[in-house]
Amino acid sequence: MMKPRVLIIEDEAPLVTLLRYNLEKEGFEVSEAADGEEALVRIAEHKPDIVLLDWMLPLVSGIEVCRQLRRMPQTRALPVVMLTARGEEADRVRGLDSGADDYIAKPFSLRELAARLRAVMRRAQPSSSEETLQFDEVTMDLAAHRVSRSDKPIHLGPTEFRLLRHLMQHPGRVFSREQLLDAVWGHDVYVEARTVDVHIRRLRKALNADGGPDLVRTVRSAGYALDHEAR
Ligand code: CA
Repeated sequence: MMKPRVLIIEDEAPLVTLLRYNLEKEGFEVSEAADGEEALVRIAEHKPDIVLLDWMLPLVSGIEVCRQLRRMPQTRALPVVMLTARGEEADRVRGLDSGADDYIAKPFSLRELAARLRAVMRRAQPSSSEETLQFDEVTMDLAAHRVSRSDKPIHLGPTEFRLLRHLMQHPGRVFSREQLLDAVWGHDVYVEARTVDVHIRRLRKALNADGGPDLVRTVRSAGYALDHEAR
């Protein structure tokens, strides 16, 4: 099997050394960049599978580097895990809003970091080959464009269909409105974040039409997730 490739974008040399040592031990092939500009060169050369990006960078912050990666077609789909000393929820949301796929606060366990990187890479796998998705009693037949809950058909509009597909591809994961906009509506479409709430409401209503537990979880000031026992 090919080793997964990770690009570390971090300016503090001792931390880079520590990360490199541990990620290599965990089976990663590691490249490094000290800032966003160097990162672009490394990405072109090294073709990483995932980027580990420090929030605190000189000149241009990790948040801005992440936004840049999301804007460019050649790096748009590259998974990004943000590394930061800032653990507050508002910061976490800002990190995710900038397009990061996951977020790890310092101090962190190196083993957990490797596990998180692998999890994000798994989620980033293209899923076009998947014919059906299953979550609890909800089934999505992607080829036939059919959705059912406990074998009863559920009728969804095209946007709700794509929204549900995205949530079912990443069960349990919380997405901000901006992330859902990017994933479901696309980067180039201008839609207000509130639009997401409207479609989530329609999706929830359709899914719960025949009762059963609410599977769409609303996370205050963070976003939405598909979850068992939504709260
Ligand atoms: Ca740093």
